[in-house]
Amino acid sequence: MLEINGVTAAYGLVRALSEVTLTVEEGSITAILGANGAGKTTLLRTISGLVRASAGTITAFGEDITALPTDRIARLGVAHVPEGGGVIPELTVEENLRLGALWRTDRADRAAAMGEVLELFPPLAPRRTKAAGTLSGGERQMLAIGRGLMGRPRLLLLDEPSLGLAPMVSAKIMGVLRSLRADTGLTVLLVEQNARSALSISDRGFVLALGRVVAADSADALLADDQLRHAYLGF
Ligand code: ATP
Repeated sequence: MLEINGVTAAYGLVRALSEVTLTVEEGSITAILGANGAGKTTLLRTISGLVRASAGTITAFGEDITALPTDRIARLGVAHVPEGGGVIPELTVEENLRLGALWRTDRADRAAAMGEVLELFPPLAPRRTKAAGTLSGGERQMLAIGRGLMGRPRLLLLDEPSLGLAPMVSAKIMGVLRSLRADTGLTVLLVEQNARSALSISDRGFVLALGRVVAADSADALLADDQLRHAYLGF
């Protein structure tokens, strides 16, 4: 579904990713873990085309997307929910959701997608005509994920969806991701600093440190590796 092969990316002289190689299986939830500044956000930005790889290749759905523009990558079925969600506070919940499907031409299909998202995140339904700025942190994150789902992606890139949320709210969001995967076969690449919570719903995990992959294993094996947890995962 997604193959990243030897990808290097830099901001000027700052190298954020060094020869990163990883694969994401179709229908899986894969966690990308690591400390602040490890390169997790850059990895997602490189996949969605916001940052260009200076070396290596990225293949999604069998197609080389390394040099494609962001809109082409999105149309192929990659949705990117950035850290903080990036919802527009002045627009209503519904308007924010519609932004996620602007490029879809079929009105009936867009309406159906909106219905599905509101069903998936019940707290959003009664607030659909309210400005997104009036939502709680958890509801905003739901809205951000919902907006990503409006385009019916095959691969969802999620950057720290539980950042700043109360544990119960974060658990609710993780639960929705798990059931989405079970019900629709959606593939999720999940960046989290909260490694324990991410691994609890993931099949596999990759640990980044200083832009390099330092561990790759099943979620269960990563959780069971005390040394690795202490060294890189902070619990
Ligand atoms: P965080 O959890 O803090 O977002 P991260 O693992 O996502 O961390 P990145 O944001 O990808 O890490 O950052 C990787 C490295 O690239 C860091 O050294 C960071 O300082 C640097 N970096 C990130 N964005 C930029 C930028 N726009 N310009 C210059 N350097 C950057």
